[in-house]
Amino acid sequence: MADIIRLLPDHVANQIAAGEVVQRPSSVVKELMENAIDAGATDIQLIIKDGGKTLIQVVDNGKGMSGTDARLSFERHATSKIQKAEDLFNLNTKGFRGEALASIAAIAHVEMLTKTEDDDIGTKIKIEGSKIVSQEVVVAPKGTSMLVKNLFFNIPARRNFLKSDQVEYRHITDEFHRISLAHPQVAFSFYNNGSDVFQLPANDFRKRIVHIFGRKTDEKLVPVEEETQVVKISGYILKPEFAKKSRGEQFFFANNRFIKSPYLHHAILGAFEGVIRPGTHPGYFLNLEVDPGTIDINIHPTKTEVKFDDEHTLYAMLKSTVKHSLGQFNVVPALDFDQDQNLDTPYSYKNKQVGIPQVVVDSSFNPFETTEKQSKGNISGGNYKKPKVEGWENLYAGLETKVESNVSHLEFESEVVNSSIFDDEKETVEQSTTTFQLRKKFIITTIKSGMVVINQSRAHQRVLYEKFLKNITIKEAVSQQLLFPLTLSFSPGEMNILSEIKDSLCTVGFVFGELNDDGVEIKGVPVLVVESEVQMIMEQLMSDFKQEVPGDSFSQSDMLAKTLAKTLSVKTGESLDEFSQVKLVNDLFACKETTLSPFNKKVYVTITENDIERKFI
Ligand code: ADP
Ligand code: MG
Repeated sequence: MADIIRLLPDHVANQIAAGEVVQRPSSVVKELMENAIDAGATDIQLIIKDGGKTLIQVVDNGKGMSGTDARLSFERHATSKIQKAEDLFNLNTKGFRGEALASIAAIAHVEMLTKTEDDDIGTKIKIEGSKIVSQEVVVAPKGTSMLVKNLFFNIPARRNFLKSDQVEYRHITDEFHRISLAHPQVAFSFYNNGSDVFQLPANDFRKRIVHIFGRKTDEKLVPVEEETQVVKISGYILKPEFAKKSRGEQFFFANNRFIKSPYLHHAILGAFEGVIRPGTHPGYFLNLEVDPGTIDINIHPTKTEVKFDDEHTLYAMLKSTVKHSLGQFNVVPALDFDQDQNLDTPYSYKNKQVGIPQVVVDSSFNPFETTEKQSKGNISGGNYKKPKVEGWENLYAGLETKVESNVSHLEFESEVVNSSIFDDEKETVEQSTTTFQLRKKFIITTIKSGMVVINQSRAHQRVLYEKFLKNITIKEAVSQQLLFPLTLSFSPGEMNILSEIKDSLCTVGFVFGELNDDGVEIKGVPVLVVESEVQMIMEQLMSDFKQEVPGDSFSQSDMLAKTLAKTLSVKTGESLDEFSQVKLVNDLFACKETTLSPFNKKVYVTITENDIERKFI
């Protein structure tokens, strides 16, 4: 048989490589602007037409190239940035693969004009689809101008694949934001179809952000600053109230390079958890400076995905630094993250302002008196147009002393709440409260001013969450011995996690037997857990903790309590008997926080008589 293997001609190889480097006009913008930065430019202009499809030009005042270098720069693997493989581990430049110019020249009409400081005369090179059309000496200013026209002129399929000018323009703008944010000390300007979009003078990071995103941004920024041996973190987060419904301004830069990192993003989400509304996204502009030897930017052709040596540490640091900033700048007055060691209750409730309750309570419905357990009725919120003024104090007359006298009791009681084992406790709950279950989802009960509609699942999550947290903090969990110990098997990774959270698990009532490489023996479980659920709960715990095992014991307990509450709570679709409904209502309003579930979802809404009245108009 004849030999059939052939080497691809250069221009074909370049076209193939171009597919990796150049996906769309914004990729060209990125490569050209990064080259300009690498060339030490202090002033960079970007000019585009028709979403970059017709023209992209980047003009810089950097170091320029000699005639020979100018020509060589279009060869594949031609780079001035690395000479030997080791250089890869000590990179401070954006590019290093020597692919960009060769790739761009393979799929567009390119004109380069360049001159170095030392040369009197510059070079102009024209290339079309990898073929050099002309090279001449010309008069030129110091620096380089790269003009890229008719992108994908020779690959119609790719050209047709491009989106509308508007969409491509948006991608380019994103790229421009990223690069100009990463280099505030460089001046940038941006022209689109002849009009001036951005003029950014050299500045500090904060002013650069404000220049790009508008003057109003200034007051939204909260500084973030932390320096350790592993990483220097600096930059800004947006105050929680400016969290957006859509993913807004989220920027990570590692050693002045924009990066995408879902993992580190998760750390930020964690730091913001509880301080922004669910469904909204925090904004951040964060620079991470690490030793170039500890970061691998080589894993992706377009180099936005990176690999850090010690991602776990970075994650933890980032999360705690952002939390710290949120706390320090008083943007989360109600939560104090620095307290964890000394916490004896899950909430730093003492910092909360005490206000006069605004709700007028039905005298026939008094959740505070129904059993000795309820001590802190807390139905609050609701804008009542016409509160009944006269005699309102009387409504609270008995309440204050009741709260006082029951507080200590509340702290140490160990009430058991579960929809399925309420029967054991029937005698302790009075049934004077009227409740109604709606569509196996909501519990409705009355208050003086109207009614409360409670989401049963979220309410139960709240009740269980506080219960577990309390068990953990006061270490008073009750466990039930299993007749036959269960053996569960886990992957080595999961076993690692398990060994880290084992102590916390013991505090909620798990009893472990032997722990070896591929499994664990479970001898006892918390009272609320039935044997058949153990496997499911452990799996849920593993998957929640897989993202991150929180370092400090408080967050660990918090996460554990959340997972258990989520797994064990009554779900939507479960019908509850009247006794369980009343119990749930009472237990909810005995909680320290009643309005939000542990996952920050609204637990109940109040509908006033006024609201109902208005519906009849
Ligand atoms: P890389 O940036 O990966 O080295 P490129 O193909 O982007 O590869 O560029 C090849 C080489 O051309 C660079 O290493 C650099 O020496 C030179 N070069 C490219 N653009 C410029 C510029 N704007 N100013 C000066 N030199 C440049
Ligand atoms: Mg480059």
